[in-house]
Amino acid sequence: MDSTAFNRLGESVQQFDVSGRRLLVPDMSPTGSRLIAASFRAVGADAVVMETYKGLALGREYTSGKECFPCQVTLGDILHHLEGERRRLGEDFDPKRYVYFLPEADGPCRFGMYNKLQRLVLDRFDSYRGVPIVYISTKNNYATADIVPPGRSSYFRKLSYVAVIIADVLDRMTCRVRPYEREPGSTDAFMGGALDSMVKATESMGPELDFGRLLGRLADIAVDARSLMKPGERRRPRIGIIGEIYLRTHPHSNQDIIRKLEAYGGEVVNASLGEWINFVNYESIRKAEHQWRKAWRERSHGGLRQVFKQWLGLKIEQYYQRWRQGQVYRAVLEHLDIEPDHSIETVQRRLDRNSLFHFAIGTEAVLSIGGALEYVHHGFDGVVNVFPFTCMPSTIASSVLRPMLHEMKIPYLDAPYDGAIQPNREAALRTFLYQAKQHRDSNGTGKE
Ligand code: SF4
Repeated sequence: MDSTAFNRLGESVQQFDVSGRRLLVPDMSPTGSRLIAASFRAVGADAVVMETYKGLALGREYTSGKECFPCQVTLGDILHHLEGERRRLGEDFDPKRYVYFLPEADGPCRFGMYNKLQRLVLDRFDSYRGVPIVYISTKNNYATADIVPPGRSSYFRKLSYVAVIIADVLDRMTCRVRPYEREPGSTDAFMGGALDSMVKATESMGPELDFGRLLGRLADIAVDARSLMKPGERRRPRIGIIGEIYLRTHPHSNQDIIRKLEAYGGEVVNASLGEWINFVNYESIRKAEHQWRKAWRERSHGGLRQVFKQWLGLKIEQYYQRWRQGQVYRAVLEHLDIEPDHSIETVQRRLDRNSLFHFAIGTEAVLSIGGALEYVHHGFDGVVNVFPFTCMPSTIASSVLRPMLHEMKIPYLDAPYDGAIQPNREAALRTFLYQAKQHRDSNGTGKE
């Protein structure tokens, strides 16, 4: 890479106030992405969710094939969107009107490099060089102060966190109701409308941040969703999904695995988006505590003061998140028995007890292994690991979980994806569901 290209990474992959530009949000999760975009709109940003998977051929054309699959998909999405805008607007297309939102993680895997690589690709098009990339990073616990209008960061953080948890519970409601629906298609139709109404309520939240209104609406949705279910149906084998966050939440990339598992007779719970946000906060606290011990050993009073201030801010945020997450789940659980979410402490405890993998190794492998053990603890009948082909943390999780769950006699399936259609996938899913049904029957579970 020449030095000009290198400088561009600093100049045009940045954190800056996105006001006044159209914020292009990747469609990772059909519910989550829309509610996050709505949170941006609530603080005045013109955020839109881009159409997804239509540009996969473009994403592939401008990558070597060694990149992670989500990188190819998101690159395809931005190229496809900008091409559509260029065609639509012709001479009036102005790259400065847009900004592309692509978060990052600080290692050890490749997510931290997606936005850099995509910058280099966008720079190959004269018309797209002027489209900056804005990011939030796990490095500073997804700080947003620099990317939303001045003074709105705290408001945005609170609203977007609740929006993410609402997305999780909407998805869990769909998964709880759809396998037992009276009228085929009624759950999807109803939950589509429910999402639209939550999007509208989120973007028009107003300065008072009245979460009670959102939670009241959510409770009504739960009541109506429950009425779509056939009463007295035997509970299906419950399948827990773990794995890489993009693949497990992006139905196009995972070839609609949740619906397929339902079609073969399962009831599915997907790992939540909130789990990752809570994990990032939890990791930041662990890092601050490590720095505290270091400053203590060095007798650095200035260091201790600085770390304490940072630690306190993170702890307050953690308490806030727990409180809000509990509130959102409770609003629904009073009416519909969706699967509650686990805390990161619980995941850590499961790993510590099992001693096959240490929490300190980090990455999504921690959440996948601990999350799978949580499913087992809650009597699930099978676990599916959904991930991009060659994904590092998910491959580690697979190597630990496969023998562990075999020992526990819990059906387990690896489901790696790279966009190709695997002819034996359907057979693998059917066989897995057959095993899960046997597990349910042999354990006497599955009663309403
Ligand atoms: S988690 Fe997996 S897919 Fe995501 S960047 Fe890391 S290696 Fe790639």
